[in-house]
Amino acid sequence: MLLIKSGTLVTHEGSFRADLLIDGEQISKVGASVDARGAEVVDASGKLVLPGGVDPHTHFDLEMFNTVSSDDHYTGHKAAAFGGTTTVLDFVPQPDKGSLRSGVDAWHAKADPKAAVDWGFHMNITRLEESVLTEIPALLDLGINTLKVFMAYNGRLRLSDGEIFQVMQLAREHGMLTMLHAENGDVIDLLVAQALTAGHLSPEWHARTRPAWGGVEAVLRACALAAQSDARLYIVHMNSAGELDQLNYARQRGVQVMGETCPQYLFFSEEDLACPDGAKWICSPPMRTKADNAALWTGLSTDQFQTIGTDHCPFFFDGTQPIEYEGKPVAIPGKELGAGNFTQIPNGLPMVGDRLPILWTYGVGAGKLTPKQFVALTSTNPAKIFGLYPRKGALQPGSDADIVIWDPNREITYGRLHNHHRTDYNLFEDWKLKGFPEKVFLRGHLIVDGDRWLGKAGMGNYLPRGEVQFI
Ligand SMILES: [Zn+2]
Repeated sequence: MLLIKSGTLVTHEGSFRADLLIDGEQISKVGASVDARGAEVVDASGKLVLPGGVDPHTHFDLEMFNTVSSDDHYTGHKAAAFGGTTTVLDFVPQPDKGSLRSGVDAWHAKADPKAAVDWGFHMNITRLEESVLTEIPALLDLGINTLKVFMAYNGRLRLSDGEIFQVMQLAREHGMLTMLHAENGDVIDLLVAQALTAGHLSPEWHARTRPAWGGVEAVLRACALAAQSDARLYIVHMNSAGELDQLNYARQRGVQVMGETCPQYLFFSEEDLACPDGAKWICSPPMRTKADNAALWTGLSTDQFQTIGTDHCPFFFDGTQPIEYEGKPVAIPGKELGAGNFTQIPNGLPMVGDRLPILWTYGVGAGKLTPKQFVALTSTNPAKIFGLYPRKGALQPGSDADIVIWDPNREITYGRLHNHHRTDYNLFEDWKLKGFPEKVFLRGHLIVDGDRWLGKAGMGNYLPRGEVQFI
């Protein structure tokens, strides 16, 4: 048994002083003064005790543009843990040939031996054949109750509106949740072709060829499809004020739609893409404007968003130069593949380890989020929505003992060496932080102790998910 003594517990409901007893892998008691003879004691006085973060949106070991995202299910999980996140939900691509199940099997083959925190899967639906329609309900037996669809990436990932509508109807019928990427694929393809013809090849054209209005319109269209199919919907990586307006419009009219934003959309803008190293900021959808950053923060402060995910999908900035990772040199082709042509820059950036520390300082520390909003957005709400609560996202007897002891006073100059992403850059390099994870427990096992990594590949558990919740 392990007793975490005299800390301030922070949950989605508030903060209170309490002791917390861990018996095996679960929390067994929470109380003002827990007496547990023989238990090992961790003194948390002056510290905060948070439920481990739940990141609803990651892409580990994902093939893209003749390379692969540079964090796999070990290195990405390790980086998550250093940042206080102990549960991650990753997306399984639909295989080019074969069943959905074969795609899930392939992703288990990658993840099972490497997982270092607990994880679950979402299923991408990117081709809707008859056999896929019949197979979707069987995903529930594999612990998957979420279906991701795309309104962009014509000819690769996109479904037509009618197909998305069919997926939503099926999801509704079987108690599943549709997750949606909202952009206008037709407009993007035309603008990209026109930019290439005109010789506009630099990274900022990535954003200019994916205009914000395409996202705004797509969010509303998706909400309308959800309303017409009476289905629940979760919109991933919302990045602009206009998208947030549409989310509110739909929610105010009773549509059961939920919205996720990500840290990158709170801090960066199209101007970053115009920098000489602008490729570092390339992800889809792109950064917008500073006014959008501000509007998204307001949306978070006033509980208009339900979650903050990361869309973690890192690539090296210069994959020809090795970095040292766990004592060995590693180089993985990355953003340099698109030097001279923005359409060939792999889309994505590192974020899974940054989410909590960055949002603590620049959200809670800056007075934009209360501690309980911070916990709700980054842990409890995603756990509820995706059918993991109260096993995850809670500090209650019976919950998994996924616990972060957070030092609210630790000041650091942040960067690549703190977060352990397996890539050669960090978007928050040299940012000043106050407040940082000190110890991280996964089901009662200490996996991060200050700068020391005590976790192991294979110790993460796969999480078959229970009922999805609308919040
Ligand atoms: Zn994504």
